Amino acid sequence: MIAVLRVLLLVLLPALSQADVLSLPATDQPVLPGPFMQVWQDPAGRAAISDVRGLPDSAWQAVGRRDASFGYGGSAYWLRLTLHNPENRAMDWVLLIGNPLLDYLDAYGLDGERIYRAGDQRPFTARWVDHRQPVLPLRLAAGESRELILRMQSNGSANLSASLMSAAAFAHREQRMLLLQGLFFGALAALCLYNLSIFGITRDRNYLWYSLFVASFGLYQFIQLGFALQWLWPQALAWHQLSFPLSSAVATLFGILFTYGVLDLKSGPPFFTWITHLLLACTVTVIGLALFGPYSAALFGSFALVIAGAILACLFTLLRWRAGFQAARLFAAGWFVLIAASLFSILSGTGLLPYSQLTLHAQQIGSLIELAVFSIALAARIRQAQSAQQLAQAHLFAKEHQLRLEQAKGLELQRQINDGLELRVSERTAALELALTELSSANQQLSELNRRDSLTGLFNRQTLNEELQRALARAIRGQRPLAILMLDLDHFKQVNDRHGHLAGDACLHHAAQRMQQRLRSGDLLARFGGEEFVAILCDTDLPGARELAEHLRDDLARHPCRHAGQSIGLSLSIGICACIPDDTDGERLLQRADQALYRAKAAGRNRVENYEASALDGV
Ligand code: GH3
Ligand code: MG
Ligand code: MG
Repeated sequence: MIAVLRVLLLVLLPALSQADVLSLPATDQPVLPGPFMQVWQDPAGRAAISDVRGLPDSAWQAVGRRDASFGYGGSAYWLRLTLHNPENRAMDWVLLIGNPLLDYLDAYGLDGERIYRAGDQRPFTARWVDHRQPVLPLRLAAGESRELILRMQSNGSANLSASLMSAAAFAHREQRMLLLQGLFFGALAALCLYNLSIFGITRDRNYLWYSLFVASFGLYQFIQLGFALQWLWPQALAWHQLSFPLSSAVATLFGILFTYGVLDLKSGPPFFTWITHLLLACTVTVIGLALFGPYSAALFGSFALVIAGAILACLFTLLRWRAGFQAARLFAAGWFVLIAASLFSILSGTGLLPYSQLTLHAQQIGSLIELAVFSIALAARIRQAQSAQQLAQAHLFAKEHQLRLEQAKGLELQRQINDGLELRVSERTAALELALTELSSANQQLSELNRRDSLTGLFNRQTLNEELQRALARAIRGQRPLAILMLDLDHFKQVNDRHGHLAGDACLHHAAQRMQQRLRSGDLLARFGGEEFVAILCDTDLPGARELAEHLRDDLARHPCRHAGQSIGLSLSIGICACIPDDTDGERLLQRADQALYRAKAAGRNRVENYEASALDGV
């Protein structure tokens, strides 16, 4: 790219001065012979030295610039230069050709009739001086003037970049140059190996692309500076020719891949990726051209590619910078340094800037700084990825914390619900227990009611039967006496008839109350039916039963029932059956008591009779 721009600038710039004899000064300062040179273009490239020497002066044109540079025409250019040694001693000088990629360079007038032949399309071993650049040594005697004729022809840039210096200055300069070039290529090798080893560790492909970019860029520089032909392939001229555009295209390829990765263009707008792919396709085409196509096409292709790649890389860098992408800033700094250095180098080549060591090496220094800055950008990208990872991790922790809090809240809610449920269940259980208690007491009351006669409040017939069985069992078990009283109100029908049924009912209630009050707590009184009652007297023999029966009869007889202002007299007839039972036949005991009652009725009522066994009973 720089070579192209340089040629453009040189062509556009006006001529500095007319050619003249170049008087060599006795200083160590290099002299640029361009303004003292005259040129004759030989488009066919077939002219011989004798033809050229025979040309009229009018055929020659002043070069008029600091550098004899004529672009990419493929013509042969003949250059004429008259040197003069003003000193009164012989001087050794060196004409150093700065463009080692010139295909052919011949020089006449250096040393008698001996022709100097160099150029990278001639085997390296053919050179007079074993040097990466064509070096033309010449000795001028005291006060001597000599005409030097050069012929250059190249498929590449017909650009001589010549400088003249004393042999001592050249030797001195060469030491410094080799040191600087050694440092330059050493630094590139270090960058390459360093990033390659980081690739080995991290497996981040951007490091691989960067290492290969540095390596191919280094090779490109090695070729451009003439080291490759000198040290790598001194005889392989065809390969050497194509290696220049090839290395340039390969460096562009890896540069694109590296830029794409470091600027993370994949995550940008889709046109980033499309353009990158297009550029990669062009690069591969140029690589193909370099290997199999015509040289000039490959050369221009590789230049165009470098220019397009550099412009797009700068554009992408700026766009990514504007989007706030961290690595883009360093990247931009790298590009800025390289562009500034290139401009510096071009301007110095045109003579707009004074020639110095700095301008001579500006481009190399610039590219070195650029590569170092790119390497730092690559590291910054890792840093960015790390901090992004840390951020993501922090987010994750915060999220986890929040989830834990929500989980705790959920558990608390669950606990509260459980507590509420337990409370409600216990409340319900208590209510149920209460209801059950109430129900059982109601049942008890009900069953108690079921056991009793509603009119008199005494036990009913059903209860009588049950209690009689129990009393019988107890008496049998304890061999204790048991007495049954059968009690019947006398002429009760008449009571009803005389006083009404309500009075009859009151009388029944009255009689029951009185009898109940007179009985012992262990005894049982039940309404047997109608106006008949039965009493069960435990542990009571016949005399005891008789005494109680008399007492009951007497008590009722003496206490009439008072109802509706009337006094209704009542009397009882009582039959007794008392014995120590030997079986549980309660019916039979009741029958016997009834028989005794029957006898009391028969005997005139209001009296007590006990059961007496007759022959008919069989007891
Ligand atoms: P006796 O002295 O022979 O026992 O004569 P009595 O009238 O008492 O006997 P009877 O068997 O002929 O009549 C019983 C009467 O008792 C008939 C009935 O009207 C009356 N009676 C039975 N149960 C009730 C009752 O619950 N209330 C009322 N008011 N009267 C009843
Ligand atoms: Mg009766
Ligand atoms: Mg009666």
